[in-house]
Amino acid sequence: MDFVKCRTMQFPRLVFVGHGVLHNVTDVVRENSVNKNIVIITGKTTYDLAGKDVEGYLSDAGMETFVIKTMDATAENFDSIISEIKGIKPGLVIGVGGGSKIDLAKKAAFVLGVSAISVPTTPSHDGIASPRATIKRDHVVLSEDAAMPMAIIADTSVMIKAPYRFLAAGAADVIANITAVMDWKLSERLNGEEISSSAAALSEYASRELIEKADLIVPNSEEAVWLVTKQILASGTAMAVASSSRPASGSEHLFAHALEKYGSGSSIHGEQVAMGSLVSIYLHGGDYSMLKETYKKIGLPTSASSYGISEDTAVKALMTAHSIRPERFTILGVKDMSEPAARKALEITGII
Ligand SMILES: [Zn+2]
Repeated sequence: MDFVKCRTMQFPRLVFVGHGVLHNVTDVVRENSVNKNIVIITGKTTYDLAGKDVEGYLSDAGMETFVIKTMDATAENFDSIISEIKGIKPGLVIGVGGGSKIDLAKKAAFVLGVSAISVPTTPSHDGIASPRATIKRDHVVLSEDAAMPMAIIADTSVMIKAPYRFLAAGAADVIANITAVMDWKLSERLNGEEISSSAAALSEYASRELIEKADLIVPNSEEAVWLVTKQILASGTAMAVASSSRPASGSEHLFAHALEKYGSGSSIHGEQVAMGSLVSIYLHGGDYSMLKETYKKIGLPTSASSYGISEDTAVKALMTAHSIRPERFTILGVKDMSEPAARKALEITGII
């Protein structure tokens, strides 16, 4: 049979990570923007944290900056950003924020056909280095095609200022790669799904690194920000190699998306994913106690009640999570889990 395999991989060209790297934005923009109009998508708090400095650096370098302060990554906010910046004809779009602002910037750059730069103000999830954007449409949160940032500028002296909770959630989003890879390998064995072993190995490595170094993931430590950010970047590379979010998104993410749909209380993405990974590793027959202990070490609560999520909501989310993205086969299978089985899995893992 003729050889027909092919895959397109997109990687960031420049990655700056560490203490005081923010000023590099000037050179990156100067060398890569097709014109002097630069759009900065940010939020109210994140503008104060880093957006203002980025704006200042670029204005000093003679760029025309347009700051758009937005809120959550919803379809409505995205549409209003696009209508606002279409007339500007930006040469480049910069996202300065925790996650949603970067998602909106990556999606806007993708639609407008220009490059994006990711300037995370907190390492709260792995979207800071991926070509996917999580956008909420009609109350459903799904991951969509977006631009891979051409540069990532992750300044740990900026990110240390964000609340610790975001760092712990970002660590959990990477730690949970362990179950995403289990799901991927299961689908390979069961359905013959093609797997990239290099992407799977890299994704698993990122998770193992954080599990092993969980004792170092503590509040007020710039080193902790550094450790988590590096593995978020590794996780992003795994997704780039696979040309898909598959190495970092399995049943634990389906559970997180189902919670978003039915009521996720006060939880943020990485916290939902942490709960999802506990139940997922249990269903895979893996070591859920080890994972639970890891989340405990980093100070991330894994009970639904700590986020105001009811037992019934958690059970319903687990039973139906498989239907959120049916083409992504995971341990959750292809039909609803039985109510008693879902309840038992959540009880054993301490989620309810
Ligand atoms: Zn995630």
